[in-house]
Amino acid sequence: MPKVVVLRMGHRSQRDKRVTTHVALTARALGADGIVLADVRDKQVEQSVQRVVELWGGPFFVRAGEPWRRVIEEWRSAGGLVVHLTMYGLPPEEVLPNLQGKDVLIVVGAEKMPSGLFDLADFNVAIGHQPHSEVAALAILLDRLFKGSELKKEFKNSKLKVIPSKKGKKVEKRFKKFS
Ligand code: SAM
Repeated sequence: MPKVVVLRMGHRSQRDKRVTTHVALTARALGADGIVLADVRDKQVEQSVQRVVELWGGPFFVRAGEPWRRVIEEWRSAGGLVVHLTMYGLPPEEVLPNLQGKDVLIVVGAEKMPSGLFDLADFNVAIGHQPHSEVAALAILLDRLFKGSELKKEFKNSKLKVIPSKKGKKVEKRFKKFS
């Protein structure tokens, strides 16, 4: 099974805490295998994502504090492709055929990205050519990549599972030991 991992860059410690957490939760919920939080030094974001994995299941890994360039270089030397999400890139339909069956590292930013990233990436992909959000861009790319199948993914070792309901909130509690 090809791997899909998200690389979050440019995190500013106080300002981006919530958005970085949302990037990670979106990555997990929409089928990615894990996330690398390149510039995150504090443990808070990492811990809040881990808490969600413990309750709602996985597998999903979180790694923090690694230099972005090294993450990209190691991914490429292992044969994976790097996709940088940017409003200046190509439309997804031009790039997606190149990604099928390949390990893909999806890079999203917060502040202005280093210009070298545009060359280091195998593909620069735009989700429309207007500025919006890394959370929205990531969600749309993952949905296109997995063709909607990610919404039916079964998470393993969850303590909680939603029972879909027309009205109200139904949650099954599975208090088996988390392994
Ligand atoms: N001002 C920044 C710049 O000039 O690069 C962009 C900041 S934007 C809030 C944060 C991130 O959202 C970007 O680094 C990019 O990954 C993603 N993003 C925003 N709009 C996008 C778009 N239209 N297509 C793809 N990614 C987008």
